[in-house]
Amino acid sequence: MSTLADVLEARTAEAAPELIEPISNGRIRCYACGHQCPIPEGATGVCKVRFVRGGRLHVPWGYVGGVQCDPIEKKPFFHAHPGALAYSFGMLGCDLHCSYCQNWVTSQALRDPSAVSPPVDATPHALVADARRLGARVLVSTYNEPLITAEWAVAIFREARAAGLMTGFVSNGNGTERVLDYIRPWIDLYKVDLKSFDDRHYRQLGGRIEPILATIRRLHEMGVWLEIVTLLIPGFNDAPSELERLTAFVASVSPHIPWHVTAFHKDYRMSDPDNTTPDMLMNAAEIARRAGLRYVYAGNIPGRVGDLENTRCHHCSALLIERYGYLVRQYRIAADGTCPDCGTAIPGRWSRTFAGQITASPFLPGTRRLRTI
Ligand code: SF4
Repeated sequence: MSTLADVLEARTAEAAPELIEPISNGRIRCYACGHQCPIPEGATGVCKVRFVRGGRLHVPWGYVGGVQCDPIEKKPFFHAHPGALAYSFGMLGCDLHCSYCQNWVTSQALRDPSAVSPPVDATPHALVADARRLGARVLVSTYNEPLITAEWAVAIFREARAAGLMTGFVSNGNGTERVLDYIRPWIDLYKVDLKSFDDRHYRQLGGRIEPILATIRRLHEMGVWLEIVTLLIPGFNDAPSELERLTAFVASVSPHIPWHVTAFHKDYRMSDPDNTTPDMLMNAAEIARRAGLRYVYAGNIPGRVGDLENTRCHHCSALLIERYGYLVRQYRIAADGTCPDCGTAIPGRWSRTFAGQITASPFLPGTRRLRTI
């Protein structure tokens, strides 16, 4: 019987030349993520899904680990085409191993034997056609870490752009200059999960903080629309001093970057911390405001975080978008992306008009038709 590793090995392509470099002793360095693994013949990288065989770096290709239709607010993007449907796909594997991962069934495949998620064969054309049929405006690579499967995302995004759709990554941000340059022509939106502002915490999760901070700076310089999320985990990353440093860093890149602080629920192997309370989110949001951030949101506890689900003009405080969870209840941004009351430009990627929401809750499109290539 084939193992999951066998199944995935049969679904690979050669790495993009931009993302590799031959180094000494026949090894190949991979630049798809911040680990920059020097991979010898017959070995895999830290992510377990990129491997060297026959002198070539093989990378995931031709399947999805899952597909879901989400309101764009779930990604979360609050300043990018509110109400749009985001056709979301992922592959398998991750370069980190966070013990609280909410997508562990796909992200920890090949690392954790209990993470079992059979891949479904797919083509870029079939995925984009499915997204269009469902009325999606954005294709988003998510659920596993998209940087480690960047070649497949770019293949899909080329097709998506040709069909007039936008594209995005939901990522841990553990990137390199090379991979960001590689995806740059094909990506509109990027969410970085900034998990902590302490390198020791990042090392517990299997990474380092510096590549993540560099990715945030570079995405902003590149002009990709960027929003940042921090999952607030009691006892792990909620110390006021850490939140002060984290939010001051984001504000130093730009005070206009939306920062979402979201509530932890016990998941996967991290079941010791208590769930995050609304008060904890509101205290973190207050720290972010003091740091100078102008668009601060609290997530995962709808209706219990006061005004922190809504968008207000940073100049005159007028209510611009009223939300409950992922539901957009009221939309007042002018066609030119300004506040209708004071005329201030609101940072983001806005549609000329709000076309309503196809859904305010995720749904599965069904993936059977993707099997036929
Ligand atoms: S994607 Fe990252 S973890 Fe995987 S092989 Fe490349 S550098 Fe290593």
